[in-house]
Amino acid sequence: MSIIKGFSVKCKLCNRNAVIYQRHSGRHLCKRHFIDDIYKRVKYAVRKYNMIERDDRIAVALSGGKDSVALLHILVSLYGHRRDLEFVAITVDEGIAGYREETVEISRRITSELDVEHIIVSFREHCGLSLDEMVKKGDKKPCTYCGVLRKHLLNKASREAGATKLATGHNLDDETQTILLNFLQGDVERLARLIPQRIQEGLILRIKPLREIYEREVVTYNLLNDLPLALDECPYSHFPVRAMVRDFIYEFEEKYPGRKFSIMRSFERLIPCFKHEFPQKDLNRCQICGEPSSKEICQACKLLEEIKGR
Ligand code: SF4
Ligand SMILES: [Zn+2]
Ligand SMILES: [Zn+2]
Repeated sequence: MSIIKGFSVKCKLCNRNAVIYQRHSGRHLCKRHFIDDIYKRVKYAVRKYNMIERDDRIAVALSGGKDSVALLHILVSLYGHRRDLEFVAITVDEGIAGYREETVEISRRITSELDVEHIIVSFREHCGLSLDEMVKKGDKKPCTYCGVLRKHLLNKASREAGATKLATGHNLDDETQTILLNFLQGDVERLARLIPQRIQEGLILRIKPLREIYEREVVTYNLLNDLPLALDECPYSHFPVRAMVRDFIYEFEEKYPGRKFSIMRSFERLIPCFKHEFPQKDLNRCQICGEPSSKEICQACKLLEEIKGR
């Protein structure tokens, strides 16, 4: 996929100049037809997994990064006119100095522009420490604290905001990397956790409307719509194995366009087996915080107890 500049190639579907070459479909597309195509594929994913239902109040996990900004913009563009639906954006401020401030500001701006209710929850306020402080105090990797506590806070904040679904900005690249990574590591149980969840008390159903959209298309969508593109990486980001898988899929896709969809379709064919082999566990309530958990004490409380005891 590449943005076309400086010379005029016509759109495959109309007489306008193309702005992009879409490798997986072999088509040049103008701005309008590119955006239409993105909307078509988001609607396809939404319908396929029944992601949005009548009277839903959808919480959008808005980090302020390119994916979540595109997600919010796309959902509001596609479904904002529906009187039975409501949207609320939730931003988790983990407290990562020099990185999170900008994306929190972007989140404020975009929600105000799109007129979407915005809730900001911070690690400092809810956990007593920022992520930077946890990293200094504890002995776990930053992403362990961050991943567990962010998931915990997003679920809690969505539920308290009355949400029925929680939408995240995972795109086709994220999903296919996770699928292949789990295959390569032989972690089929973790792979099975990627399948759509069933409703359980206290747990807000997660949906991923961008799962059919390439990461590059997300970037293009933001550029064409003048949406912010915070491309800075988190200073704690260090995923060498995932980076290898990402590069492998990238090269494969360059040579054989459309293979990311093949990975996704293969995974989808296996969903019935995953459901059979790894039925989703019934959840209890954490004895400390009351959040849904498969154990007596949830992982977030365990991490927090451990770090406070140090
Ligand atoms: S890379 Fe940064 S934002 Fe992402 S999980 Fe790790 S610490 Fe959190
Ligand atoms: Zn066109
Ligand atoms: Zn707990």
